[in-house]
Amino acid sequence: MVDRRIRQELASTKKEKPAPDQLQFGKEFTDHMFIMDYTPNEGWHDARIVPYQNISIDPSAMVFHYGQSVFEGLKAYLSPEGEAQLFRPDINLKRINNSNERMCIPKIDEEFALDAMKELVALEKDWIPEAEGTSLYIRPFIISTEPFLGVAPSHNYKFIVILSPVGAYYKEGINPVKIAVENKYVRAVTGGTGEAKTGGNYASSLKAQEEANKNGYAQVLWLDGVEKEYIEEVGSMNVFFKINGEIVTPELNGSILEGVTRSTAIRLLEHWNYPVSERRVSMQEVYQAHQDGQLEEAFGTGTAAVVSPIGQLSWGDQHMVINEGQTGEVAKALYDNVTGIQYGTVEDPFGWIT
Ligand code: PMP
Repeated sequence: MVDRRIRQELASTKKEKPAPDQLQFGKEFTDHMFIMDYTPNEGWHDARIVPYQNISIDPSAMVFHYGQSVFEGLKAYLSPEGEAQLFRPDINLKRINNSNERMCIPKIDEEFALDAMKELVALEKDWIPEAEGTSLYIRPFIISTEPFLGVAPSHNYKFIVILSPVGAYYKEGINPVKIAVENKYVRAVTGGTGEAKTGGNYASSLKAQEEANKNGYAQVLWLDGVEKEYIEEVGSMNVFFKINGEIVTPELNGSILEGVTRSTAIRLLEHWNYPVSERRVSMQEVYQAHQDGQLEEAFGTGTAAVVSPIGQLSWGDQHMVINEGQTGEVAKALYDNVTGIQYGTVEDPFGWIT
């Protein structure tokens, strides 16, 4: 049985909120956070909302050494009526439990975690910025806290939710980006942890990202970890191509993260009667389609940017300019509709808003 009580200890002083034009991603946090603990005897317990503060953990805590941790990322939006709304939070909570399963972390009660997130966001509603395109980023995460240097699943954990007001991803409408196909490093392999949202996947991606940035690219396009032939995903986004009228995205194969925005995009595109196919896509196929004038669009999808059009894709010496470097109509339609649903200005036919 889950103890559904959430104790509240309110902050005695409130922080100053950042000016709307000063919002940066993930730099400032609200006045409170949610936290609960896990022990084998008590299960998940002592759920509480407390003032945002440092946590004290033993230096031998397992998370510092072997990285047993998972996290999620979603947003709260302010509707025109001034209501706080979440977009498909149930999918994020399902995903954190899938990540937990892979990382040997005890599962959380998804309904309870949703109630906790709602209570925290409601308490911090004044922190949801009002300007267009801004939101309150929600970061739930679990860390292993047992003080022990053995390589084994921890017995103790903390589940924490922190909130950060974030600015509009695009300041002047959506902007196509330059992406480099990564031929040297790999992100994940079949049987690895690619489909789990765990810190190690991001640590191992930094080197490639750093080199791509140095060469003037926004992100890398990851290929499969064995043959470096099949397309996986872009940085922290899933990827879609429009090839000769058909929308294609790499199928879920265990090494790709199943994005909430990816499943949202597929559902909407099918609703609009576009042919959508989830299948293996090779870099050679995309290159050939570009040569034949059939690569009509390419874009990434993720919570941060929603849709990020790819204006140029570089594969070794081949620099493919896509759709003349402009935002395509599919990317634009998805962006307008998904953000419209999130902010409550477009009808929500699928019941995605909580
Ligand atoms: N792939 C990776 C590796 C990511 O980190 C993310 C961001 N969570 C995504 C894809 C997109 O997922 P979502 O649409 O749920 O944000």
